[in-house]
Amino acid sequence: MNTFVYIDHFKGNALPASWEALGVAKTLGTVAAVIFGSGMEALAKTAFEYGADEVLLADDVSLADYRAEAFASTLSAAAASRTPDLLLFPTTTRGRELAAMAAIDLKTGVMVDVIALEAKDGKITVTRPIYAGKLLTKETCSSKPQIITLRGRAFPKPAQQAGKSGTLTKVAAVTGDFPTKVEGYAESGGGVSLTDASVIVSGGRGVSNNPALTPPGGLDEKQAEIWKAQQGFALVKDLASALNAAVGASRAAVDAGYVPYTHQVGQTGKVVSPDLYIACGISGAIQHLAGMRTSKLIVAINKDAEAPIFKLARYGVVGDMFQVVPALTAAFKKRLGK
Ligand SMILES: Cc1cc2nc3c(=O)[nH]c(=O)nc-3n(C[C@H](O)[C@H](O)[C@H](O)COP(=O)(O)OP(=O)(O)OC[C@H]3O[C@@H](n4cnc5c(N)ncnc54)[C@H](O)[C@@H]3O)c2cc1C
Repeated sequence: MNTFVYIDHFKGNALPASWEALGVAKTLGTVAAVIFGSGMEALAKTAFEYGADEVLLADDVSLADYRAEAFASTLSAAAASRTPDLLLFPTTTRGRELAAMAAIDLKTGVMVDVIALEAKDGKITVTRPIYAGKLLTKETCSSKPQIITLRGRAFPKPAQQAGKSGTLTKVAAVTGDFPTKVEGYAESGGGVSLTDASVIVSGGRGVSNNPALTPPGGLDEKQAEIWKAQQGFALVKDLASALNAAVGASRAAVDAGYVPYTHQVGQTGKVVSPDLYIACGISGAIQHLAGMRTSKLIVAINKDAEAPIFKLARYGVVGDMFQVVPALTAAFKKRLGK
């Protein structure tokens, strides 16, 4: 099988899920890594080291910033001339967008957020979660090329082989009067990226529920709630920092203004698959579970023994997170020598 793998990157820094996709493609046959951007030689070299047999490189100033129209047109033109059997993308915002646009250009289908796949006689059968992760469906696509996006961290990242090389093929960027123009970028706050994190500590509405805290005077009810939530989230962040983890949140916490949307996990937030997910003061609504149910190990801390999160958790602590979370942080710091 002949596969194109789209390497999603920002300014030449690839998202780890791109290498995971490359690793999957390698198990199926020959792989061409598709890299678009400007000044991408180093990234092309890295793609060879992660196993690409060939790199299709469109290196052009017009591709310096990601723009769906320009990238999809360039990708579709390359795929139309080379007729790969399969196009693989990581399930990132850009990956999903490009997969959908390429599918339209190439008159084929797209199967998104795949967590397992098997190939037989050139046809791929994928497994992907549906209905907010309640069911797993198996699907095939009868047209070619088959287009698939792979959920991040659902597949192993291949080992990097320093110095490995392959065939570098230059691809012409499709230019035109595309309507989108990138004006600039704003930093979203740093920290460990949620979708790449192997450990996530998340906080829910429960972070604001510490009756022992007295907010400073002069705050109205809403301000007092947010002040309390900030104290609660500080504990979540301490635990995350001890574990070098990313910080997640439920939608209730985001909607209430405790933390920005970039932290939201769930159906309308980020879908994550860490090795360890620690939920603090989160009830486990189906929409939250949709974003984290494929985590390898789930730990829940909740004072309500009936909270639905405990049905999914491997380990559950029924207790007050304001006591349990600092105790856990102290124990981890001791164990990890921090
Ligand atoms: C269309 C749609 C999309 C949605 N998308 C998302 C999504 O992407 N992500 C998401 O998370 N939600 C989403 N929701 C919202 C979801 O239905 C829930 O409302 C939300 O997940 C609840 O968040 P929570 O668990 O933090 O709050 P709650 O349900 O209020 O739970 C708070 C929990 O904290 C516990 N608690 C309180 N105090 C303490 C304490 N001191 N110590 C320990 N535990 C304590 C309580 O027992 C309770 O279980 C969506 C809803 C809809 C309708």
